[in-house]
Amino acid sequence: MVTTHETDKFVYDFAEGNKDLKDLLGGKGANLAEMTNLGLPVPPGFTITTGACQAYLATGREPDGLAGQIEAHLEALERAMGRRLGDPQDPLLVSVRSGARFSMPGMMETVLNVGLNDRSVVGLSDQAGQNDRFAWDSYRRLIQMFGKTVCEVPGEEFEHALDEAKRAKGTHDDLDLDADDLRGLVETYKKIFAKHTGREFPQEPREQLDLAIRAVFESWNAERAILYRRQERIPADLGTAVNVVTMVFGNLGPDSGTGVAFTRDPGSGAQGIYGDYLANAQGEDVVAGIRNTVPLQELERLDKTSYDQLLDIMARLEGHYQDLCDIEFTIERGKLWMLQTRVGKRTAAAAFVIAGQLVDEGLIDLDEALHRVNGAQLAQLMFPRFQLDHEFEAVARGIGASPGAASGAVVFTSARAVELAAEGKSVILVRRETNPDDLNGMIAAQGILTSRGGKTSHAAVVARGMGKTCVSGADEIEVNVPAKRFNVGGRTVSEGDVVSIDGTTGKVYLGEVPVTPSEVVQYFEGSLDPERTDDALVRAVHRIMTHADARRRLAVRTNADTGADAARARRFGAEGIGLCRTEHMFLGDRRELVERLILAATDAERTDALAALLPLQRQDFVEIFREMAGLPVTVRLIDPPLHEFLPPLEQLAVNVAVAQERGEDVAKEEALLAAVRRMHEENPMLGLRGVRLGLVIPGLFAMQVRAIAEAAVAVTRDGGTACPEIMVPLVGAVQELETVRAEAEKIIAEVVGDSGVEVLIGTMIEVPRAALTAGQIAEAAQFFSFGTNDLTQMGWGFSRDDVEGAFFWRYLELGIFGISPFESIDRDGVGRLIRIAAEEGRAARPGLKLGVCGEHGGDPDSVHFFHEVGLDYVSCSPFRVPVARLEAGRAAIETTGSDSR
Ligand code: ADP
Ligand code: MG
Ligand code: MG
Repeated sequence: MVTTHETDKFVYDFAEGNKDLKDLLGGKGANLAEMTNLGLPVPPGFTITTGACQAYLATGREPDGLAGQIEAHLEALERAMGRRLGDPQDPLLVSVRSGARFSMPGMMETVLNVGLNDRSVVGLSDQAGQNDRFAWDSYRRLIQMFGKTVCEVPGEEFEHALDEAKRAKGTHDDLDLDADDLRGLVETYKKIFAKHTGREFPQEPREQLDLAIRAVFESWNAERAILYRRQERIPADLGTAVNVVTMVFGNLGPDSGTGVAFTRDPGSGAQGIYGDYLANAQGEDVVAGIRNTVPLQELERLDKTSYDQLLDIMARLEGHYQDLCDIEFTIERGKLWMLQTRVGKRTAAAAFVIAGQLVDEGLIDLDEALHRVNGAQLAQLMFPRFQLDHEFEAVARGIGASPGAASGAVVFTSARAVELAAEGKSVILVRRETNPDDLNGMIAAQGILTSRGGKTSHAAVVARGMGKTCVSGADEIEVNVPAKRFNVGGRTVSEGDVVSIDGTTGKVYLGEVPVTPSEVVQYFEGSLDPERTDDALVRAVHRIMTHADARRRLAVRTNADTGADAARARRFGAEGIGLCRTEHMFLGDRRELVERLILAATDAERTDALAALLPLQRQDFVEIFREMAGLPVTVRLIDPPLHEFLPPLEQLAVNVAVAQERGEDVAKEEALLAAVRRMHEENPMLGLRGVRLGLVIPGLFAMQVRAIAEAAVAVTRDGGTACPEIMVPLVGAVQELETVRAEAEKIIAEVVGDSGVEVLIGTMIEVPRAALTAGQIAEAAQFFSFGTNDLTQMGWGFSRDDVEGAFFWRYLELGIFGISPFESIDRDGVGRLIRIAAEEGRAARPGLKLGVCGEHGGDPDSVHFFHEVGLDYVSCSPFRVPVARLEAGRAAIETTGSDSR
């Protein structure tokens, strides 16, 4: 319930505000005030606060006191200008402009020329030197904007009438309409207005003003504004401020005009003058693209005085805001007026380049430069981009699940992907959805396209992990795997046909769209020397990354399962491996050994199968330890339920039936089928997996521990260093860990002997009970690593594989959370579990090493949280390592969390 008092101040004159009052006055109002106080030529006006809007939206009526305050400010404005609003002889006209805390371009409303009516239009003409054309043009604009925004008259009707008038005149240019044409158009507009609203266009200026203000308040809750806020994660309850600004006119003739400008190129960050100018036009014409604008430089020729003054003001604004500014201005008969400025939006590349330039110019320091860029921007810069021209039109749109741009021949199976990739072809693996069996195909493919699943589907999560482009849930695509084709929009795409997918926008194109590689990745990979290149972006990224590394307290490790991944992650700056999953070591051609293990009827058979796996695993670890050359490597013992390594039930059942039909020997298939049936679980994520497997299947963990220890010893014997950390998954009780640890320590002692190798044993904290009993668990653990994926899954009771598609959209819509808790850590709930575990774990074992592995380790906002909680490191996929480094640096310099907007 919003309560307001008679004494609440709802209206601020421009002279009363400043740029730091954005919460109260909105961005536009705060900056208009700032410019006013800098002595820049801003048309006088006042701002109605966001608080007034909030009160209006909460109660459905203007708060007490607002009307009186508007009255008082309007009178002051009239006195200052020596004119009265809508006066028949010499009318004051105003614009009524929305302006929220965060810029929401084009989302909300503005009404120009408020105060015009059938009588004051004549006065306006007189004041403009009998300029009838101008006066009637202004009036028709008012009816059009007022009708559309305030009274919801369909905008097309006005546009249609305007087109009609131009057609009658045989022209395409607004400027060819003369005063009579426009007077006629006003009559038509009024009829349109009356037809749709059931009333005449309001002639009373103050009523126009009040209705326009109310409409701006209400535009906060327009559908498109709501959608935009959700997408940009702008809180829904901020409300908008309303600016009432004295009108100045860019449509008074050739010596008038209007324009927009940037103090640097918002696309590349390059220094220079960037802007557009349109002579004889009112503000919205520039943005609407009604007529062709000219480059701002042209203004020098048209009006040198105003041009020089504008450049001067732009330089002052840059110096004052110490950042790129964007500007709206109008020239009325040779006099320049500033109508808006703000710190301008820019591309990711420009953000880095400009931050670097401003350091060079001595305007900001490196901390500030670091503060002004963010991990999302860096991530964007690390993906190759499509060079999109007119020829390419998207045929489908899914979810941009893992960014990047990829083209290749369509394949429908993992095996085919591997085959074609071996021939040197680029392929796009297309599936309804993927599962762990597709892993090799995903590795081989350039990109992955699925017709089902969201941002946390298997395809999305794995692809992000690999830094591979993925579009998921493109549901216009009908995938037919047996027929090796998919249909989309009446077209058929067969195996071998080339498609291109954009993992940022989710768009799918037919044919090969050309791609530009990322120079930032070339820099990280070491093939672009930042000291030598003249690429301003690479130099800026290098400089800011170096500063982030110097500032951050969090170490950054990577999740890597192979030597190749580990090598790449090191080039990206990883300082160790925080999660080495061992399950891939049970896939591919090792599947047969795993089947033997699962089907083992006797101890001897099982021991045999494990013994056969041991050297393979050992070799995997040797490669990884070598690659990491003495950096810590955290190896997770096998985690997923074993039946995931067997073929699916249906497939086995078919195999058995077919083989029986043919009279073949089906003993093995039948045994597998029986095993799958036996191992079937209703809730596999809560079933026999993780530490539970180790406790139930004798020798399994022992084999893995032995492989790790032997690999470490082997690397050490060769003169290298290995620092393995064995991590036990899914522990919920200290007794589980103690049991595993006792057995592991025996093996380690035996293998390591006097080689000097040290092997730590720790646990994942991913079951809520483990977090809540962390004090006990710490007694048995040499380190904790938070498995935030499972901790989120079990903390919320959300099945990770199902919820996103099933109902997250509704939760997001209702605002139950603003972002999926699988993407960004839920600070209040899951985060609290982490805090408790960190505190109690360290209380029991001072100096306990704490890290996090899981998707969140590479999420900017989550990195800030992990910094705050005092973890020692985060671990993320190789591609996210630079992002985590940058954000860890930002977290270290920002005590108040991240506000990267
Ligand atoms: P937006 O936030 O969509 O840019 P604005 O409130 O800035 O909307 O206004 C729309 C257009 O009208 C802009 O081009 C602006 O410069 C112009 N405009 C706004 N107020 C005035 C005014 N008092 N005099 C002249 N032009 C104005
Ligand atoms: Mg504007
Ligand atoms: Mg887990």
